[in-house]
Amino acid sequence: MAAATDWSAKYAEMVNAERLRTHLAVLASDEYEGRETGMKGQHMAAAYIAEQFKNAGLTGPMPNSADPYQQHFNVEQVTWAEGNSLKIGKTSYKWLVDFYGLSDSPFAEETTVKPVFAGYGIEQPGYSDYAGLDVAGKDVLIALGEPTAPDGKALLSADGSPTKWGNDYRAKAQMAAQKGARTVFFVSFDPNTNFAKQAARLGPFISRPTTVMVTEKPSRTPSFFLAPAVALQLLGTNAADMKAYLAKINQTKQPVASKFKVLPMQVKAVRKRVPLETENVLGFIEGSDKKEEIIVLSAHHDHLGIQNGVVFNGADDDGSGTSAIVTMAEAFAQAKKDGHGPRRSLLFLSVTGEEKGLFGSEYYSKNPVFPMAVTMADLNVDMIGRTDVAHEGKPDYVYVIGSDKLASELKVINEAQNKQYTQLDLDYRFDDPADPNRFYYRSDHYNFAVNKVPVAFFFNGVHADYHKESDEISKIEFPKMEKRARLVFHLAWELANREGRVVVDSNKP
Ligand SMILES: [Zn+2]
Repeated sequence: MAAATDWSAKYAEMVNAERLRTHLAVLASDEYEGRETGMKGQHMAAAYIAEQFKNAGLTGPMPNSADPYQQHFNVEQVTWAEGNSLKIGKTSYKWLVDFYGLSDSPFAEETTVKPVFAGYGIEQPGYSDYAGLDVAGKDVLIALGEPTAPDGKALLSADGSPTKWGNDYRAKAQMAAQKGARTVFFVSFDPNTNFAKQAARLGPFISRPTTVMVTEKPSRTPSFFLAPAVALQLLGTNAADMKAYLAKINQTKQPVASKFKVLPMQVKAVRKRVPLETENVLGFIEGSDKKEEIIVLSAHHDHLGIQNGVVFNGADDDGSGTSAIVTMAEAFAQAKKDGHGPRRSLLFLSVTGEEKGLFGSEYYSKNPVFPMAVTMADLNVDMIGRTDVAHEGKPDYVYVIGSDKLASELKVINEAQNKQYTQLDLDYRFDDPADPNRFYYRSDHYNFAVNKVPVAFFFNGVHADYHKESDEISKIEFPKMEKRARLVFHLAWELANREGRVVVDSNKP
């Protein structure tokens, strides 16, 4: 009797450096303009990937669609409009000079606003700026910083170190939102803060369009920042009186009722929202006797686009993962044509919007073509073409993240496949919940994990060219990339063909 052929090894040969390079050379070329979500280059990338899936013989699983390989959805591009203004009495203040906003704004028309002054805007046991204050539906004015002793030590922490209130305006914005406030106007009376400089530095960032998911309400409380002179006029006071007021808080370590009489101001700050269409690309290979169960292989094809006239090609991030899943799709499709198709079904999912905030995988997970309950695993590949500093001059490796967090067996199977076929050094350091990088939460697999779908994330770590224009194909190490892609291929092959499905048996942090 002849030995059984190892078909997995045979078709893994199709996942090779040459094929990977062929796809990456297209996706990471300047013609694709850095593949920014909703922009021309991203649509081109989606079209290219869909065409590869089709050519390889995969089907498009989108139901009732003329374009069954693409899952289209809208995101919004949000920018501040021209002509934002703030007036107190006869004095007019300038946008990005005297005031600016972050996140959203309810002031699409010029609106009369008379904010409630809430001191430092702090609430914690033993100290509440909101005691006796009703701010529901109102706008609040809050001083940045926190009560401090003359030596600079924070008074609200046990050891004098700064608290979240002093460190991060968002803690205060969140508290104001919890109290029902509509917006928050922040001001710093710290003499070391130079508002004009800060506004000038933040200007380009504030003026740049941001891309967001279309949601019912903004995720963050609309927050505006005022120059001290604006706030002092608004409060009908002067710098000396304000200094005395804050000194009294520091002295008593308690909020102090102020005598400030807030004046009305006219505010106009318009957020322009333009819908942008974008799309995930889906290629499907139907299984045989276990076809109802789905294995997802995902990677994001979007990247950072063009910035200041320079194309960010994102060869590693995530041209590498995208090329890998396209190449794996070709190999699995060929195997099926030759009569060695998978028992379970495979979904190759090329998502958009990752760099903007995992939008494509979020959209898919909320609008799955195959229910999450029958999705057995997501193998996500994001950056597999380079070497990080920790592994320079060391044996070939890959970081594997999250593989035992929901299903302990997934990690065991991956290790067995690696031992048999690829012999990579599997680095699990980022599985440590204390690791500050939090990579487990930072790529598309996470939107599967939150739905209790076991995931494994394959990653080469960050390097000097990460999110830089220098993330180019010339720096990709194809032999390493081939090995990593083959490991994912062998893992997918085993998951698709083994008798039992991987079960969720743990819930590790
Ligand atoms: Zn990425």
